[in-house]
Amino acid sequence: MENKIRLDLSPKLNSFLESMSTQNSELQKVKLTRHEEIAPGVFIIGFSRRHDFIPGQTVKLGIDEIQPPRIYSICSGTKDDELCVLYNIKDDGFLTPRLAKLKVGDTLYASAPGGTFFGTEDPAWWIATGTGIAPFRAMIRSGMGQNKKLVHGVRHLNQFYFSKELAKGLGPHYHRCCSAETTDGVHPGRVTAFLENRNDLFKDWKYYICGQAQMAVETRDLLIEKGIPFENIVTEIYF
Ligand SMILES: Cc1cc2nc3c(=O)[nH]c(=O)nc-3n(C[C@H](O)[C@H](O)[C@H](O)COP(=O)(O)OP(=O)(O)OC[C@H]3O[C@@H](n4cnc5c(N)ncnc54)[C@H](O)[C@@H]3O)c2cc1C
Repeated sequence: MENKIRLDLSPKLNSFLESMSTQNSELQKVKLTRHEEIAPGVFIIGFSRRHDFIPGQTVKLGIDEIQPPRIYSICSGTKDDELCVLYNIKDDGFLTPRLAKLKVGDTLYASAPGGTFFGTEDPAWWIATGTGIAPFRAMIRSGMGQNKKLVHGVRHLNQFYFSKELAKGLGPHYHRCCSAETTDGVHPGRVTAFLENRNDLFKDWKYYICGQAQMAVETRDLLIEKGIPFENIVTEIYF
């Protein structure tokens, strides 16, 4: 126990962390093979892939076996040798400021893939904000781009992660929205404003939404108002 981080917390919280450490037995040590800052405060971190996964799934990452891990969407393809995730630093968060200090060759703790946000071959709209683009990049890299339309919403123009790859994979079906800056080829405003004006929100298509809670809820409500059946809407909320 000596080498494990102990925090000066209430007995109740320490007991909670102890119970989480038991759950963390699912975490395995991995060595980082990639750690790249692709935009200010936004990183791709990766390690050798040990498991098969379904595009859209997540892994849990931690910096040791004690602290509760956090969940991240896999952004790699199913045939890639590395398993990567895309994350942004939360300055006041626990894990991400520590993750950002790791270097290639350092140890990280990772779970096997899990989660039920599964990409399929069905026709679908993919709707993402910010780092919520990650599972859709995994789906594109895994050959699921047929019959798909993607809209990615961000605040700043330098946050269109993987844009070249997504544009190549989806052509005119890749749409970008930016709420704080404007440029040619990018829709001004939020994804909800973009979707509000579409006449191709087909009722028998699937709608995959990934990102922060408020966007996910507003988008879901808008789709339901437009007559999309609830069961055709699949949501992954980053909280
Ligand atoms: C299914 C799923 C998939 C996800 N995929 C991704 C992904 O691909 N990429 C990505 O970047 N993120 C993803 N996330 C979010 C990720 O799991 C982490 O929540 C995020 O990286 C922040 O972790 P952290 O430890 O740095 O911050 P945390 O310590 O978890 O804190 C996060 C925020 O909450 C605030 N906070 C913490 N505790 C409290 C409290 N008690 N009261 C009020 N506020 C508090 C902090 O100040 C901070 O702003 C996903 C989440 C889920 C559920």
